[in-house]
Amino acid sequence: MPASLDLCAPLAVLGADVQVPLVSGEKVGYAALDYAASSPALQRVWDEVAAYAPYYGSVHRGAGYLSQLSTDLFEQSRRTVADFLDLREDDQVVFTRATTDSLNLLAGAVPAGTRVFAFETEHHASLLPWRQAGLTVSYLRAPDSPEQAVAALAEALAADTAGEHRLFCVTGASNVTGELWPVAELTRVAHQHGARVVLDAAQLAPHHRVSVRELDVDWVAFSGHKLYAPFGAGVLAGRSDWLDAAEPYLAGGGASRTVAREVDGSVAVEWHQGPARHEAGSPNVIGAYAIAAACRALSEAGFEALQAREQYLIGRLTAGLAEIPEVRVLSLFGPQAARVGVLSFVVQGWNSSHFSAALSAEYGIGVRDGLFCAHPLVRTLLGGGAGGPGSVSECGAPEPSLPGERSLNAIRVSFGAGTPEEHIDRFLAAVRELVSDGARWNYRNEGGRCVADTRR
Ligand code: PMP
Repeated sequence: MPASLDLCAPLAVLGADVQVPLVSGEKVGYAALDYAASSPALQRVWDEVAAYAPYYGSVHRGAGYLSQLSTDLFEQSRRTVADFLDLREDDQVVFTRATTDSLNLLAGAVPAGTRVFAFETEHHASLLPWRQAGLTVSYLRAPDSPEQAVAALAEALAADTAGEHRLFCVTGASNVTGELWPVAELTRVAHQHGARVVLDAAQLAPHHRVSVRELDVDWVAFSGHKLYAPFGAGVLAGRSDWLDAAEPYLAGGGASRTVAREVDGSVAVEWHQGPARHEAGSPNVIGAYAIAAACRALSEAGFEALQAREQYLIGRLTAGLAEIPEVRVLSLFGPQAARVGVLSFVVQGWNSSHFSAALSAEYGIGVRDGLFCAHPLVRTLLGGGAGGPGSVSECGAPEPSLPGERSLNAIRVSFGAGTPEEHIDRFLAAVRELVSDGARWNYRNEGGRCVADTRR
């Protein structure tokens, strides 16, 4: 592991100096350790957006100078994203709202009757759009290792040959365990069996270079707000054929090339080909521009340098947690698995919501608790199997209370390019103190959230 002195500095992000109140009345600097939900904006993204903002204008629908400029910037942003993802020549970039939107768009665009394959360990955004679109989905059981995932996919694809078209959806890095999935190997197997692949890179793209060409995936989806660009845009990028043949995602202006009244009184529409087909309505130019700014900033900082820093922080975090016997880190692939800066755990004798609320109220540390929109995976990792009832546990009553009892939800700590080492150290010190001394305050359930009880 490199010494911290050899590492690059954290990238400047907004909110780094924000002070938050503790339940005691003191104030401390906020430790944002929930990057996997939404990462703070890169200062550089914010500055670039601010510099563009006075020139903001409509896109693809205005004769004025600022409309022309905004249209150019919007289309340039598309090319920046294409370079960032190392797309193939005839791939396209569609701007969407976020990963969920991108995957729903694709689900509606695949040819009718396409069979979809996905591991049950996926985030709900990768798990659910296919069945919602009326497609038949084969859900594969949670694998124990990356090798087993590849073998299970090969077996499933060989066993189920129905359907002219097949699609496999996989998440590059888990939003629960942070573990990396063997995307290139899975893609090779999928392609051998005639299945196309869509990569959910919501958690991968902020941490790793994603080369569509090298991974050979057919599509990739990610969200701006997890890529330090929280302005409401996301991306679906990849092969054009199915997208161009599909009905537009939304019907309206921008997607239609011509609309004319027919002699019988009906309306005939000719839709655009290319990204415009699925971008009806006025596009989110600020969101697209912010994503492009983030792509530039991350590429210039260099993923190698960013990863070296992140791996150092991961090493510090996992070593620190390993010294606390009451902490159990959740993992599908085991302690040696490669991961990004996302880690979930449970604490023996603690309700996860209670623990997370105490980290916030008593230490100013922001993490997340729950099932992280990946219910089957978290339930499997907690030892209850992928099924089971809703599991929002009662706050305040530490539960499980007996050693060895299983917790009903988990705590997730996640970080990235803007995280200083001090946040990881403060987090570890807080976990140690809570485990050894307990919470100093009383907590209660308020509308389903666990909060410090400040009533007198
Ligand atoms: N996939 C993964 C792996 C995620 O972590 C998330 C967000 N937690 C999503 C998809 C959905 O992203 P969004 O909420 O930005 O649509």
